[in-house]
Amino acid sequence: MSLTLIRGGRIVTAVDDYEADILIDGERIACIGLNLPAAEGTKVIDAAGMLIFPGGVDCHTHMENTFGPSTTADNFDSGTRSAAWGGTTTIIDFALQNPGTTPLQAIERAQSKADCVANIDYGFHVIVTHVDHQVLEDMRYAIRHEGVSSFKMFMAYPGTVMSDDAAIFQAMRMVGQHGGMVALHAENGTVVELLIKEALAQGHTSPRYHALTRPAILEGEATHRGIKLAELAEAPVYFVHLSAKEALKHVIEARDLGIPVFAETCPHYLFFDESAYADSDDEDSFDNARFVMSPPLRSKESQNALWTALKTDDLQLISTDHCPYCMKEGHQGRINQKPFGADDFSKIPNGIPGVETRMTVVYDGGVRTGRISLNRFVELMSTAPAKLFGLFPRKGTIAVGSDADIVIFDPNETQTISAETQHSDCDFTLFEGRQVQGKVKQVLLRGQLLIDGGLWLGKNGQGRFVPRGELGKYW
Ligand SMILES: [Zn+2]
Repeated sequence: MSLTLIRGGRIVTAVDDYEADILIDGERIACIGLNLPAAEGTKVIDAAGMLIFPGGVDCHTHMENTFGPSTTADNFDSGTRSAAWGGTTTIIDFALQNPGTTPLQAIERAQSKADCVANIDYGFHVIVTHVDHQVLEDMRYAIRHEGVSSFKMFMAYPGTVMSDDAAIFQAMRMVGQHGGMVALHAENGTVVELLIKEALAQGHTSPRYHALTRPAILEGEATHRGIKLAELAEAPVYFVHLSAKEALKHVIEARDLGIPVFAETCPHYLFFDESAYADSDDEDSFDNARFVMSPPLRSKESQNALWTALKTDDLQLISTDHCPYCMKEGHQGRINQKPFGADDFSKIPNGIPGVETRMTVVYDGGVRTGRISLNRFVELMSTAPAKLFGLFPRKGTIAVGSDADIVIFDPNETQTISAETQHSDCDFTLFEGRQVQGKVKQVLLRGQLLIDGGLWLGKNGQGRFVPRGELGKYW
């Protein structure tokens, strides 16, 4: 087995902060201690002055995701490489249950896209779009035997992926009994649909109407409804990409009552707000298509409430919802990207890139500014997603026996974020031109160096499917 010794760094986990050496034997951490000796043949990495974090876990990404006529710009190769450059060593992506297919077939198809291609480790949530007896059986089986214990359902997008309340309730009841969890996209889909039709009928076709037709109150309503369904089903529930204070208040209320309700938010809601849609001289500019994601950007008050909730654990983690569509049609051969909706905002594919910038923007805008502590940062980036989604303690911390997924981070180096220097196949980043302090210097995946300074040492396909356990062990 190969030995690697990381010397002299400052190890930061969700609870610890100390200087020590880390000895890696093969894929796992074998020993943590002071002044560890290096046996002959040991690869030594000098980490003096550096912070050492557990590899990031991003539990919300969409690689090679097809929705309607559009497919995301990143596949499992470019997307996971981009993630690694940003310090993320595990993603949980999605396996979509298409009409006429079962969740187990969806998992198999998703595996075939990622196998032999992914550069970092990965798991899947199944997107359940249809519930019947077989689907419920598949869900139970997936939790027990496939290492897939979370299931995403949509309260939005009627006619495509939306589930009605009864289907959501049935799924929650089934997975709740078997150690799984339903994750909800909470927006009142049918009312959003009506508002979209009305806006288009009035000739409002520009991108900012995407935001105006998805008001925060409808995220609040759906979040409340989702919590009530979960309560009745006696099951935990997780809300993806929570963006609005109108939704957050219901999560806080439920958590205060001890109900197992969890939620993530995303960097774009923490660093941008609805005023972005009015930033350019022409508020109907197509340039605003870069901010077309669902839910849309919210008010400044919501943004402040999200930061507070990250501190108080009313929000448990930050994931990216990395779902990149290009601003230019034809970039890297991608078609039906954002310009597909040039004349109709409802046709603009919803989604933005983010997997590469998550750690650096949150470190710079959260830790450096004093909004969150360094330990809380690690918890939000790595430990909490690993615990909530059944990957802990293999992933999500630096401990003896854990996978040697490690990020060596220079807290002082500054960098300017630009799509030009990123590794995603998408042609823009919302953070273009932003100067941030802190840089990922080295990244190890199960003991192998993927990134060393500016060099990519990863091998395509070295990422592995990580079966996840039953959920609920660590909350
Ligand atoms: Zn998403």
